[in-house]
Amino acid sequence: MDSVYDIAIIGGGPTAFSAGLYSARARMKTCIIESPSIMGQLPMTDSVENYPGIKNIGGIEMVEIMKEQAIGFGSEHISGTVQKVSEEKKDALPVWKVTYDDKFIYAYSIIAASGAHPRTLNVPGEREFMAKGVSYCATCDGAFFKDKNIAVVGGGDSAVEEGIFLTRFGKMVEVFHRRDRLRAAKIIQERAFSNPKMSFVWDTVVEEINGKNKVESLKVKNIKTGQLSQVQADGIFIFIGWIANVDYLGDLVKYDDTGRILVDDEMRTSRPGIFAGGDCCKRPFHQAVTAAGDGAVASYSAELYVENLKG
Ligand code: NAP
Repeated sequence: MDSVYDIAIIGGGPTAFSAGLYSARARMKTCIIESPSIMGQLPMTDSVENYPGIKNIGGIEMVEIMKEQAIGFGSEHISGTVQKVSEEKKDALPVWKVTYDDKFIYAYSIIAASGAHPRTLNVPGEREFMAKGVSYCATCDGAFFKDKNIAVVGGGDSAVEEGIFLTRFGKMVEVFHRRDRLRAAKIIQERAFSNPKMSFVWDTVVEEINGKNKVESLKVKNIKTGQLSQVQADGIFIFIGWIANVDYLGDLVKYDDTGRILVDDEMRTSRPGIFAGGDCCKRPFHQAVTAAGDGAVASYSAELYVENLKG
């Protein structure tokens, strides 16, 4: 049974590394399976200034420090994309078989901390012009739009904060939002409204993304008047929310109607032995600080579960 991990954590963001840190410090045999191909929300964030104790830090740097800290205390790090979790028995104890790429590990408990991926608009041109003017990551692609006209879609923290970041590069940043008020935090709104390179187009949705070899214009529609117009844009950054990365769990656990895992206060899912936290879960507030908190609680609950299981 030496080959069975106490806790297998699936993910590579603040929830996963916080869970890894706490699990390793509790002397649980822990592994963190991080997909090399899935990019979380934090690494896509240029600067984080609302994590208590850290005044300002880049998203990528922050995740790297968290990872180093978890590994430093003894969590094993495995690079791989998890495809499936299934239940088996070993020496009469229930274990989870975690299949990633062509390999697998066994663990007594799982912490799903696999985050979410950007929601797409699903309009003509979006897929065709991906990486040719359509982007979901300002930190990754902003610099390609120096002195260009940039469109941003969405009204949440991501759209407005990343829109502000994009004003460093673009000639103008025009935010298209489907309502007439933003969802973003007030402090972020204030910064955006006072930024001379930013403007807002309210009650408007993007219907088509057009161009020859790259994005050149957008067809937009005012949803109150029904009026259609063409807007010139060299790039479009889409920030309209996130979809949980949970396919590997199948019907092992229960989800809300948007596909996020349902958890209780102790980060327990509907399935004993599977815990979850962060952006892949239904939570009232999705922040780096709450994700890290989720990881700590999930680790504690998993530790109690494993100790109880082993007697
Ligand atoms: P979000 O809060 O879910 O906002 C998504 C935005 O996209 C909303 O304004 C929504 O409009 C709009 N939208 C959704 N579907 C759409 C569609 N099909 N077409 C057009 N617009 C659509 O997503 P987010 O901004 O990515 O933030 C996710 C979480 O991360 C939030 O909890 C946020 O607070 C957090 N976050 C925090 C920070 C920070 O603290 N600095 C930074 C980034 C993100 P409606 O408003 O009409 O629903």
